[in-house]
Amino acid sequence: MVHDKITSPEIGDLLKQLEGSPYLSEEDTFEAANVREIKHFYDKTTKIPKSLVEELARVTSMAHGVWVEARKKSDFSLFLPHLKKIIKLKHDQAEAVGYEKDPYDALLDDFEPGATIDGVSEVFTKFRQELVDLVAAIVDSGKCPDTSILRKDYPVDRQESFAKEAAKAIGYDFDKGRLDVTAHPFCTGIGPGDVRITARYNPKYFGDAFFGILHEAGHGIYEQGLDPKRYGTPGGDSVSLGIHESQSRMWENLVGRSKSFWKYFFPRAQKIYPEVLEKVKLDDFYLAINEVKPSFIRVKADEVTYNLHILLRFEIEQAFFKGDLKPEEIPGVWNEKFKSYFHITPPNDAQGCLQDVHWSAGYIGYFPTYSLGNLYASQFFNKAKEDLGDLDSQFAKGEFSNLKNWLQENIHMRGQRYRAEKLAEVVTGKPLSHRPLMDYLKTKYGELYGV
Ligand code: ZN
Repeated sequence: MVHDKITSPEIGDLLKQLEGSPYLSEEDTFEAANVREIKHFYDKTTKIPKSLVEELARVTSMAHGVWVEARKKSDFSLFLPHLKKIIKLKHDQAEAVGYEKDPYDALLDDFEPGATIDGVSEVFTKFRQELVDLVAAIVDSGKCPDTSILRKDYPVDRQESFAKEAAKAIGYDFDKGRLDVTAHPFCTGIGPGDVRITARYNPKYFGDAFFGILHEAGHGIYEQGLDPKRYGTPGGDSVSLGIHESQSRMWENLVGRSKSFWKYFFPRAQKIYPEVLEKVKLDDFYLAINEVKPSFIRVKADEVTYNLHILLRFEIEQAFFKGDLKPEEIPGVWNEKFKSYFHITPPNDAQGCLQDVHWSAGYIGYFPTYSLGNLYASQFFNKAKEDLGDLDSQFAKGEFSNLKNWLQENIHMRGQRYRAEKLAEVVTGKPLSHRPLMDYLKTKYGELYGV
Protein backbone atom coordinates (compact mmCIF):
# COMPACT_ATOMS: atom_id res chain seq x y z
CA MET A 1 0.00 0.00 0.00
CA VAL A 2 2.83 2.37 0.87
CA HIS A 3 4.52 1.49 -2.41
CA ASP A 4 1.30 2.33 -4.30
CA LYS A 5 1.00 5.72 -2.62
CA ILE A 6 4.65 6.65 -3.15
CA THR A 7 4.52 5.69 -6.82
CA SER A 8 1.19 7.40 -7.52
CA PRO A 9 1.24 9.01 -11.01
CA GLU A 10 -0.04 12.21 -9.40
CA ILE A 11 3.38 12.75 -7.82
CA GLY A 12 5.00 12.16 -11.21
CA ASP A 13 2.69 14.81 -12.75
CA LEU A 14 3.52 17.32 -10.02
CA LEU A 15 7.23 16.74 -10.46
CA LYS A 16 6.85 17.25 -14.22
CA GLN A 17 5.11 20.58 -13.68
CA LEU A 18 8.11 21.73 -11.66
CA GLU A 19 10.62 21.04 -14.42
CA GLY A 20 12.23 24.30 -15.51
CA SER A 21 10.69 26.22 -12.61
CA PRO A 22 12.62 29.39 -11.71
CA TYR A 23 12.45 28.30 -8.06
CA LEU A 24 14.78 25.48 -8.88
CA SER A 25 17.35 27.38 -10.92
CA GLU A 26 19.64 27.74 -7.94
CA GLU A 27 21.14 24.51 -6.74
CA ASP A 28 21.04 23.69 -3.02
CA THR A 29 18.23 26.03 -2.00
CA PHE A 30 15.68 24.30 0.23
CA GLU A 31 13.15 24.39 -2.63
CA ALA A 32 15.57 22.79 -5.06
CA ALA A 33 16.65 20.22 -2.46
CA ASN A 34 13.03 19.26 -1.76
CA VAL A 35 12.35 18.60 -5.42
CA ARG A 36 15.72 16.89 -5.92
CA GLU A 37 15.12 14.43 -3.07
CA ILE A 38 11.43 13.77 -3.76
CA LYS A 39 12.21 13.19 -7.43
CA HIS A 40 15.13 10.92 -6.57
CA PHE A 41 12.96 8.80 -4.30
CA TYR A 42 10.02 8.77 -6.71
CA ASP A 43 12.17 7.78 -9.70
CA LYS A 44 13.89 5.06 -7.75
CA THR A 45 10.72 3.64 -6.27
CA THR A 46 8.74 3.66 -9.51
CA LYS A 47 11.51 1.70 -11.21
CA ILE A 48 11.13 -1.23 -8.82
CA PRO A 49 8.27 -3.50 -9.93
CA LYS A 50 5.63 -4.14 -7.31
CA SER A 51 6.21 -7.88 -7.69
CA LEU A 52 9.86 -7.41 -6.63
CA VAL A 53 8.87 -5.32 -3.61
CA GLU A 54 6.45 -8.05 -2.54
CA GLU A 55 8.98 -10.82 -3.17
CA LEU A 56 11.64 -9.00 -1.14
CA ALA A 57 9.20 -8.49 1.72
CA ARG A 58 8.20 -12.15 1.63
CA VAL A 59 11.73 -13.56 1.38
CA THR A 60 13.22 -11.33 4.07
CA SER A 61 10.35 -12.07 6.46
CA MET A 62 11.03 -15.78 6.06
CA ALA A 63 14.79 -15.26 6.27
CA HIS A 64 14.55 -13.39 9.55
CA GLY A 65 13.03 -16.34 11.40
CA VAL A 66 15.56 -18.72 9.88
CA TRP A 67 18.44 -16.41 10.78
CA VAL A 68 17.29 -16.34 14.43
CA GLU A 69 17.28 -20.16 14.42
CA ALA A 70 20.61 -20.42 12.55
CA ARG A 71 22.29 -18.07 14.99
CA LYS A 72 20.90 -19.99 17.94
CA LYS A 73 22.28 -23.25 16.53
CA SER A 74 25.34 -21.54 15.08
CA ASP A 75 24.59 -23.26 11.77
CA PHE A 76 25.26 -21.14 8.69
CA SER A 77 23.97 -23.84 6.34
CA LEU A 78 20.40 -23.19 7.55
CA PHE A 79 20.63 -19.53 6.56
CA LEU A 80 22.58 -20.05 3.32
CA PRO A 81 19.68 -20.78 0.89
CA HIS A 82 17.82 -17.70 2.18
CA LEU A 83 20.86 -15.49 1.82
CA LYS A 84 21.28 -16.70 -1.76
CA LYS A 85 17.70 -15.70 -2.55
CA ILE A 86 18.22 -12.29 -0.95
CA ILE A 87 21.40 -11.64 -2.93
CA LYS A 88 19.58 -12.53 -6.16
CA LEU A 89 16.66 -10.20 -5.34
CA LYS A 90 18.98 -7.36 -4.36
CA HIS A 91 20.69 -7.78 -7.74
CA ASP A 92 17.29 -7.53 -9.41
CA GLN A 93 16.64 -4.39 -7.38
CA ALA A 94 19.97 -2.82 -8.38
CA GLU A 95 19.31 -3.60 -12.06
CA ALA A 96 15.79 -2.16 -11.85
CA VAL A 97 16.92 1.04 -10.16
CA GLY A 98 20.05 1.45 -12.27
CA TYR A 99 23.52 2.67 -11.36
CA GLU A 100 26.40 4.43 -13.00
CA LYS A 101 29.28 2.11 -12.32
CA ASP A 102 28.70 -0.56 -9.71
CA PRO A 103 25.47 -2.40 -8.82
CA TYR A 104 26.38 -2.10 -5.11
CA ASP A 105 26.02 1.70 -5.44
CA ALA A 106 22.31 1.24 -6.03
CA LEU A 107 22.01 -0.49 -2.65
CA LEU A 108 24.26 1.93 -0.79
CA ASP A 109 22.03 4.72 -2.05
CA ASP A 110 19.13 3.44 0.08
CA PHE A 111 21.05 4.29 3.24
CA GLU A 112 23.57 6.89 2.14
CA PRO A 113 22.10 8.77 -0.83
CA GLY A 114 24.69 9.65 -3.42
CA ALA A 115 27.51 7.61 -1.87
CA THR A 116 29.46 5.24 -4.12
CA ILE A 117 31.61 2.20 -3.53
CA ASP A 118 34.60 4.03 -5.04
CA GLY A 119 34.25 7.04 -2.78
CA VAL A 120 33.72 4.98 0.37
CA SER A 121 36.51 2.51 -0.46
CA GLU A 122 39.00 5.31 -1.01
CA VAL A 123 38.51 6.60 2.54
CA PHE A 124 38.15 3.16 4.13
CA THR A 125 41.29 1.69 2.51
CA LYS A 126 43.57 4.37 3.94
CA PHE A 127 41.79 4.08 7.26
CA ARG A 128 42.14 0.29 7.51
CA GLN A 129 45.91 -0.07 7.48
CA GLU A 130 46.52 2.58 10.11
CA LEU A 131 43.74 1.17 12.24
CA VAL A 132 45.01 -2.43 12.10
CA ASP A 133 48.43 -1.14 13.20
CA LEU A 134 46.94 0.90 16.05
CA VAL A 135 44.93 -2.05 17.37
CA ALA A 136 48.04 -4.27 17.21
CA ALA A 137 50.11 -1.65 19.07
CA ILE A 138 47.47 -1.35 21.80
CA VAL A 139 47.26 -5.12 22.24
CA ASP A 140 51.07 -5.39 22.31
CA SER A 141 51.31 -2.66 24.95
CA GLY A 142 50.17 -5.26 27.47
CA LYS A 143 48.25 -2.62 29.40
CA CYS A 144 44.96 -4.00 30.74
CA PRO A 145 42.50 -1.60 32.33
CA ASP A 146 40.73 -2.83 35.46
CA THR A 147 37.18 -3.00 34.16
CA SER A 148 35.90 -4.84 37.22
CA ILE A 149 34.86 -1.44 38.63
CA LEU A 150 32.25 -1.24 35.85
CA ARG A 151 30.95 -4.74 36.61
CA LYS A 152 29.53 -4.29 40.08
CA ASP A 153 26.08 -3.55 41.48
CA TYR A 154 24.61 -0.62 39.62
CA PRO A 155 20.93 -0.45 40.62
CA VAL A 156 18.72 0.16 37.61
CA ASP A 157 16.74 3.07 39.10
CA ARG A 158 19.97 4.94 39.79
CA GLN A 159 21.33 4.10 36.33
CA GLU A 160 18.19 5.59 34.86
CA SER A 161 18.27 8.83 36.82
CA PHE A 162 22.00 9.36 36.25
CA ALA A 163 21.80 8.71 32.50
CA LYS A 164 18.76 10.98 32.28
CA GLU A 165 20.72 13.74 33.95
CA ALA A 166 23.53 13.31 31.42
CA ALA A 167 21.16 13.14 28.43
CA LYS A 168 19.48 16.31 29.63
CA ALA A 169 22.83 18.05 30.15
CA ILE A 170 23.99 17.37 26.60
CA GLY A 171 20.74 18.80 25.25
CA TYR A 172 18.15 16.06 24.81
CA ASP A 173 14.84 17.76 25.56
CA PHE A 174 12.63 15.63 27.83
CA ASP A 175 9.71 18.01 27.28
CA LYS A 176 9.74 16.81 23.69
CA GLY A 177 10.72 13.23 24.33
CA ARG A 178 10.95 10.40 26.81
CA LEU A 179 13.09 7.46 27.79
CA ASP A 180 11.70 3.93 27.99
CA VAL A 181 12.96 0.37 28.34
CA THR A 182 13.38 -1.97 25.38
CA ALA A 183 15.21 -5.14 24.28
CA HIS A 184 17.07 -3.40 21.43
CA PRO A 185 17.68 0.32 22.06
CA PHE A 186 16.62 2.80 19.39
CA CYS A 187 15.45 6.36 18.84
CA THR A 188 12.25 7.16 17.02
CA GLY A 189 10.95 10.49 15.77
CA ILE A 190 7.18 10.44 15.93
CA GLY A 191 6.93 14.06 14.83
CA PRO A 192 8.20 17.49 15.77
CA GLY A 193 7.94 17.75 19.53
CA ASP A 194 7.90 13.98 20.12
CA VAL A 195 11.20 12.17 19.73
CA ARG A 196 11.60 9.13 21.98
CA ILE A 197 14.60 7.09 23.04
CA THR A 198 14.93 3.69 24.66
CA ALA A 199 17.50 1.81 26.71
CA ARG A 200 18.35 -1.59 28.08
CA TYR A 201 19.77 -1.90 31.62
CA ASN A 202 22.17 -4.40 33.08
CA PRO A 203 22.15 -4.13 36.91
CA LYS A 204 25.66 -5.61 37.01
CA TYR A 205 27.30 -3.38 34.42
CA PHE A 206 27.61 0.38 34.20
CA GLY A 207 28.49 0.84 30.53
CA ASP A 208 25.65 -0.57 28.43
CA ALA A 209 22.84 1.69 29.50
CA PHE A 210 24.81 4.87 30.15
CA PHE A 211 26.63 5.03 26.81
CA GLY A 212 23.63 3.56 25.02
CA ILE A 213 21.48 6.38 26.33
CA LEU A 214 24.04 9.02 25.34
CA HIS A 215 24.09 7.41 21.88
CA GLU A 216 20.31 7.41 21.47
CA ALA A 217 20.10 10.92 22.96
CA GLY A 218 22.53 11.98 20.21
CA HIS A 219 20.11 10.63 17.60
CA GLY A 220 17.29 12.31 19.50
CA ILE A 221 19.02 15.70 19.63
CA TYR A 222 19.40 15.52 15.85
CA GLU A 223 15.69 14.75 15.36
CA GLN A 224 14.69 17.43 17.88
CA GLY A 225 16.99 19.89 16.11
CA LEU A 226 15.35 19.53 12.68
CA ASP A 227 13.39 22.56 11.47
CA PRO A 228 9.75 21.97 12.51
CA LYS A 229 8.56 24.42 9.83
CA ARG A 230 9.92 22.06 7.20
CA TYR A 231 8.47 18.92 8.78
CA GLY A 232 7.29 16.38 6.21
CA THR A 233 9.61 17.64 3.49
CA PRO A 234 13.23 16.61 2.81
CA GLY A 235 14.33 20.04 4.07
CA GLY A 236 13.07 19.04 7.51
CA ASP A 237 14.48 15.53 7.50
CA SER A 238 17.82 13.93 8.40
CA VAL A 239 20.42 13.52 5.65
CA SER A 240 21.45 9.87 5.79
CA LEU A 241 22.22 7.03 8.18
CA GLY A 242 25.88 8.07 8.20
CA ILE A 243 25.11 11.63 9.26
CA HIS A 244 22.59 10.38 11.84
CA GLU A 245 25.24 8.08 13.29
CA SER A 246 27.76 10.94 13.32
CA GLN A 247 25.52 12.73 15.80
CA SER A 248 24.99 9.77 18.11
CA ARG A 249 28.64 8.75 18.03
CA MET A 250 29.83 12.26 18.71
CA TRP A 251 27.88 12.47 21.97
CA GLU A 252 28.53 8.87 22.95
CA ASN A 253 32.27 8.74 22.22
CA LEU A 254 33.93 12.04 21.37
CA VAL A 255 32.10 13.75 24.24
CA GLY A 256 30.84 10.95 26.50
CA ARG A 257 34.08 9.00 26.72
CA SER A 258 36.29 12.09 27.05
CA LYS A 259 38.26 12.98 30.14
CA SER A 260 36.70 16.44 30.33
CA PHE A 261 33.15 15.01 30.33
CA TRP A 262 34.05 12.81 33.30
CA LYS A 263 35.77 15.63 35.16
CA TYR A 264 32.25 16.94 35.53
CA PHE A 265 30.27 13.70 35.79
CA PHE A 266 32.59 11.42 37.77
CA PRO A 267 32.15 13.22 41.12
CA ARG A 268 28.40 12.95 40.53
CA ALA A 269 28.71 9.25 39.71
CA GLN A 270 30.64 8.77 42.95
CA LYS A 271 27.76 10.35 44.90
CA ILE A 272 25.19 8.21 43.12
CA TYR A 273 27.11 4.92 43.47
CA PRO A 274 29.22 5.49 46.63
CA GLU A 275 29.44 1.76 47.38
CA VAL A 276 31.38 1.04 44.18
CA LEU A 277 32.99 4.30 43.08
CA GLU A 278 33.85 6.22 46.25
CA LYS A 279 37.44 5.00 46.32
CA VAL A 280 37.97 4.80 42.57
CA LYS A 281 40.19 7.41 40.91
CA LEU A 282 38.98 9.38 37.90
CA ASP A 283 41.95 8.21 35.83
CA ASP A 284 41.19 4.55 36.49
CA PHE A 285 37.52 5.01 35.66
CA TYR A 286 38.45 6.91 32.49
CA LEU A 287 40.77 4.10 31.39
CA ALA A 288 38.15 1.45 32.19
CA ILE A 289 35.47 3.07 30.02
CA ASN A 290 38.02 3.32 27.21
CA GLU A 291 39.23 -0.26 27.25
CA VAL A 292 40.35 -1.48 23.82
CA LYS A 293 40.08 -5.21 23.43
CA PRO A 294 39.60 -7.23 20.25
CA SER A 295 36.34 -9.15 20.61
CA PHE A 296 33.96 -11.08 18.38
CA ILE A 297 30.74 -9.13 18.68
CA ARG A 298 30.34 -5.84 16.82
CA VAL A 299 27.72 -4.26 19.05
CA LYS A 300 29.94 -4.80 22.10
CA ALA A 301 33.10 -3.46 20.46
CA ASP A 302 35.05 -0.47 21.74
CA GLU A 303 35.59 2.81 19.92
CA VAL A 304 38.81 1.68 18.19
CA THR A 305 38.08 -1.89 17.10
CA TYR A 306 34.46 -1.11 16.16
CA ASN A 307 35.54 0.24 12.78
CA LEU A 308 37.43 -2.95 11.93
CA HIS A 309 34.20 -4.90 12.43
CA ILE A 310 32.59 -2.62 9.86
CA LEU A 311 35.43 -2.72 7.34
CA LEU A 312 35.34 -6.51 7.44
CA ARG A 313 31.59 -6.60 6.74
CA PHE A 314 31.90 -4.00 3.98
CA GLU A 315 34.58 -6.05 2.22
CA ILE A 316 32.67 -9.31 2.53
CA GLU A 317 29.31 -7.99 1.36
CA GLN A 318 30.93 -6.30 -1.63
CA ALA A 319 32.66 -9.55 -2.56
CA PHE A 320 29.58 -11.77 -2.31
CA PHE A 321 27.41 -9.21 -4.06
CA LYS A 322 29.90 -8.94 -6.90
CA GLY A 323 30.14 -12.74 -7.17
CA ASP A 324 33.82 -12.79 -6.18
CA LEU A 325 32.86 -14.73 -3.09
CA LYS A 326 30.38 -17.61 -3.06
CA PRO A 327 27.87 -17.28 -0.21
CA GLU A 328 28.91 -20.71 1.10
CA GLU A 329 32.45 -19.37 1.51
CA ILE A 330 31.39 -16.54 3.83
CA PRO A 331 32.12 -18.29 7.18
CA GLY A 332 35.64 -19.25 6.13
CA VAL A 333 36.52 -15.86 4.69
CA TRP A 334 34.98 -14.12 7.69
CA ASN A 335 37.21 -16.04 10.08
CA GLU A 336 40.35 -15.55 7.98
CA LYS A 337 39.82 -11.81 7.76
CA PHE A 338 38.92 -11.66 11.41
CA LYS A 339 42.19 -13.34 12.31
CA SER A 340 44.22 -10.95 10.19
CA TYR A 341 42.54 -7.82 11.64
CA PHE A 342 41.97 -8.83 15.27
CA HIS A 343 44.46 -11.68 15.79
CA ILE A 344 41.71 -13.88 17.20
CA THR A 345 39.39 -16.38 15.48
CA PRO A 346 35.64 -16.63 16.20
CA PRO A 347 34.89 -19.98 17.90
CA ASN A 348 31.66 -20.41 15.88
CA ASP A 349 29.45 -18.68 13.30
CA ALA A 350 27.05 -17.31 15.92
CA GLN A 351 29.96 -15.20 17.12
CA GLY A 352 31.12 -14.73 13.56
CA CYS A 353 29.21 -14.21 10.33
CA LEU A 354 25.76 -14.97 11.81
CA GLN A 355 25.79 -12.32 14.55
CA ASP A 356 24.08 -9.46 12.70
CA VAL A 357 20.48 -9.21 11.53
CA HIS A 358 21.24 -6.94 8.54
CA TRP A 359 21.72 -9.35 5.63
CA SER A 360 18.67 -11.38 6.62
CA ALA A 361 16.63 -8.18 6.34
CA GLY A 362 18.07 -7.45 2.88
CA TYR A 363 20.21 -4.62 4.28
CA ILE A 364 23.21 -4.98 2.01
CA GLY A 365 25.03 -1.64 1.84
CA TYR A 366 24.02 -0.64 5.37
CA PHE A 367 27.17 -1.52 7.33
CA PRO A 368 29.46 1.16 5.87
CA THR A 369 27.17 3.87 7.28
CA TYR A 370 28.32 3.04 10.83
CA SER A 371 31.94 3.86 10.07
CA LEU A 372 30.97 6.78 7.88
CA GLY A 373 29.22 8.08 10.99
CA ASN A 374 32.41 7.85 13.04
CA LEU A 375 34.40 9.55 10.27
CA TYR A 376 31.91 12.39 9.85
CA ALA A 377 31.68 12.80 13.63
CA SER A 378 35.40 13.44 14.02
CA GLN A 379 35.54 15.81 11.09
CA PHE A 380 32.58 17.86 12.38
CA PHE A 381 33.95 17.80 15.92
CA ASN A 382 37.31 19.24 14.79
CA LYS A 383 35.54 22.08 13.06
CA ALA A 384 33.34 22.73 16.09
CA LYS A 385 36.48 22.98 18.24
CA GLU A 386 37.94 25.47 15.78
CA ASP A 387 34.81 27.57 15.91
CA LEU A 388 33.99 27.27 19.61
CA GLY A 389 37.36 27.38 21.30
CA ASP A 390 38.25 25.18 24.22
CA LEU A 391 35.38 22.69 24.33
CA ASP A 392 37.14 20.56 26.94
CA SER A 393 37.02 23.26 29.58
CA GLN A 394 33.34 23.81 28.75
CA PHE A 395 32.59 20.09 29.14
CA ALA A 396 34.51 19.98 32.43
CA LYS A 397 32.03 22.55 33.75
CA GLY A 398 29.05 20.61 32.46
CA GLU A 399 28.44 23.05 29.62
CA PHE A 400 27.40 21.37 26.40
CA SER A 401 25.06 23.95 24.89
CA ASN A 402 27.63 25.61 22.63
CA LEU A 403 28.33 22.34 20.87
CA LYS A 404 24.66 21.41 20.72
CA ASN A 405 23.72 24.78 19.23
CA TRP A 406 26.58 24.58 16.74
CA LEU A 407 25.37 21.16 15.58
CA GLN A 408 21.83 22.40 15.28
CA GLU A 409 22.79 25.42 13.24
CA ASN A 410 25.33 23.70 11.00
CA ILE A 411 23.76 20.28 10.56
CA HIS A 412 20.26 19.73 11.95
CA MET A 413 18.52 22.85 10.64
CA ARG A 414 19.91 22.21 7.16
CA GLY A 415 17.82 19.05 6.77
CA GLN A 416 18.54 17.47 3.40
CA ARG A 417 19.54 20.72 1.80
CA TYR A 418 22.91 19.10 1.08
CA ARG A 419 23.75 15.44 0.73
CA ALA A 420 26.23 13.99 3.22
CA GLU A 421 29.46 14.49 1.30
CA LYS A 422 28.52 18.04 0.31
CA LEU A 423 27.39 18.82 3.84
CA ALA A 424 30.84 17.85 5.14
CA GLU A 425 32.42 20.22 2.64
CA VAL A 426 30.02 23.05 3.40
CA VAL A 427 30.45 22.68 7.17
CA THR A 428 34.16 21.84 7.41
CA GLY A 429 35.52 23.23 4.14
CA LYS A 430 37.03 19.83 3.29
CA PRO A 431 35.91 16.57 1.71
CA LEU A 432 35.47 13.57 4.01
CA SER A 433 38.79 12.14 5.13
CA HIS A 434 39.97 9.40 7.46
CA ARG A 435 42.52 11.80 8.94
CA PRO A 436 40.47 13.47 11.73
CA LEU A 437 39.19 10.16 13.15
CA MET A 438 42.55 8.42 12.84
CA ASP A 439 44.38 11.34 14.48
CA TYR A 440 41.83 11.46 17.28
CA LEU A 441 42.16 7.71 17.96
CA LYS A 442 45.97 7.82 17.81
CA THR A 443 46.20 10.76 20.19
CA LYS A 444 43.65 9.56 22.72
CA TYR A 445 44.63 5.90 22.81
CA GLY A 446 48.31 6.68 22.34
CA GLU A 447 48.19 8.54 25.66
CA LEU A 448 46.03 5.94 27.39
CA TYR A 449 48.11 2.94 26.30
CA GLY A 450 51.50 4.58 25.92
CA VAL A 451 51.82 3.64 22.24
ZN1 ZN B 1 22.97 4.76 16.22
